[in-house]
Amino acid sequence: MKIETIRHSLAHILAYAVQELFPGVKFGIGPAIENGFYYDFDLPRALTPEDLPKIEKKMREIIKKNLEFRIKNLEINEAKKIFKDQPYKLELMNELKEKKVKCYETGKFIDFCKGPHVRSTKEINPESFKLTKIAGAYWRGSEKNPMLTRIYGIAFKTKKELLNFLKAEVEAEKRDHRLLGQKLELFSFDEEVGAGLPLWHSKGTILRKIIEDYLYKELTSQGYQWIVSPHIGKLDLWKTSGHWELYRENMYSPIKIDEEEYMLKPMNCPFHVKIYKTKIRSYKELPIKYAELGTVYRYEKSGVLHGLVRVRGFTQDDAHIWCTPEQLSTELIKLLKHGFKILKTFGFKDYDIYLSTRPEKYAGTLKGWEKATNLLKYVLEKLKLKYQIDPGGGVFYGPKIDIKIKDSLGRSWQCTTIQVDFNLPEKFNMNYIDKKGRKQRPIMIHRALIGSVERFIGVLLENYAGALPLWLSPIQVWIIPVGTHHKKYAKEVTKKLSDSEARWELKDENETVSKKIRDGELQKIPYLLVVGDKEMNTKSVRVRSKNKDLGLISLTKFIEKIKLKIDNKK
Ligand SMILES: [Zn+2]
Ligand SMILES: [Zn+2]
Repeated sequence: MKIETIRHSLAHILAYAVQELFPGVKFGIGPAIENGFYYDFDLPRALTPEDLPKIEKKMREIIKKNLEFRIKNLEINEAKKIFKDQPYKLELMNELKEKKVKCYETGKFIDFCKGPHVRSTKEINPESFKLTKIAGAYWRGSEKNPMLTRIYGIAFKTKKELLNFLKAEVEAEKRDHRLLGQKLELFSFDEEVGAGLPLWHSKGTILRKIIEDYLYKELTSQGYQWIVSPHIGKLDLWKTSGHWELYRENMYSPIKIDEEEYMLKPMNCPFHVKIYKTKIRSYKELPIKYAELGTVYRYEKSGVLHGLVRVRGFTQDDAHIWCTPEQLSTELIKLLKHGFKILKTFGFKDYDIYLSTRPEKYAGTLKGWEKATNLLKYVLEKLKLKYQIDPGGGVFYGPKIDIKIKDSLGRSWQCTTIQVDFNLPEKFNMNYIDKKGRKQRPIMIHRALIGSVERFIGVLLENYAGALPLWLSPIQVWIIPVGTHHKKYAKEVTKKLSDSEARWELKDENETVSKKIRDGELQKIPYLLVVGDKEMNTKSVRVRSKNKDLGLISLTKFIEKIKLKIDNKK
């Protein structure tokens, strides 16, 4: 039995329990989600957290009745009669093209649903689920629709798994990057600016810059050329690329400039193609690799926006590679290896790898898709990487390899994506001249290694609970003079730190040393240096790191030590 099936079946049972406790409730939808399920309701009254245990109790009673999930294939008119008091279900039914509707009946509850479900509630352990929270959710995610009440639950196969999950969740809450971002003054959001549009403060900008500089160096060493492209481009460009036809729902409305329409870019690809096309290219130049830290804008429903990991404007570490068919597998292997190296530097060593295949809406030919998909498979197998297939998860122009990194709590985060594209080179009529002087079509690879700088920083913060490794810390050292007559020596320390390019702050405000130490620890500053008489007289510093006193260390030694760490990206 798949856990998703149990989770979704529990959504039905939740709806059944709510129907029993709140007669007249109107039902939205109730899918299985990661770790659990939810159901949306239009309720006669607002819920309070005290309602959840009562609903849970009712759910357990229902489960223990060993009720069957009975499938009913109903004529659409018949179904509409049954759901005549359920406006949301009717709305969904009215969109159906089929004449028959699949419904499932459990006890006195019937739902219009494709399934699959458990056969009977006895397949569900009544002790391995829990209702977790109540939230508002717009019907179908749109602000124009009524706000429904969403009840979330989590569910596992065993009670032990449930308890472990709850424990991990307490830990995860402490690591919420949205709270850390605020506390560490890295970024903020502002309602007047708009949802999903982060404002980067000084320290957050330093962190971005460190990551970007590292990527700049790494990619340059791999033969990438850096380019910059505009944030908007004419609608016609997006028509040629196929985005207008197949990616429109992720794009914002056109902007009118003079008499022409422009689009905010959801991707950088067409611009990179245009740079490629400014010259006749020879096979000798291939592979050509263009990289850009390109800021793109994609429409996300307001309900799914989440801190930095789901935003409406973000910076991709984007690159495109054009190569000959013969070079393709070698390039892909190089890319994957290099990607793993970069992720490892940031401290990520565990991955889930997915091969995403052709989606419903696609460009290009079936043959092209098959060829590209097989090639990606070949490369994954050649590198002996374990992977799963994500059917239909590809982008409209080609199949892709996605790498989800696992953080210190074992949670997965989508980062790297590598996509093969036979389509754009065709659409833009891209060529190179081969050995025999004939025109040939290059193959295009789209790839992002860390994915988006924003999301990656969110993941880093959660992974390290805000205590970033030294090389990534926006401020690496605080210098805390004990008294006013130690300020001069403290300045001397800052000068030495500046000389070795360490990032520091001098804390000479009128506060006690212990208060400053406490603040520094809350701010997750890697090293706190206290300087008083003894330190001044011996040209040393008293070092505190990770809530521990490391004692007196000579200033020169301390600087050597951190420099080594920073150079080794520790
Ligand atoms: Zn169902
Ligand atoms: Zn692209």
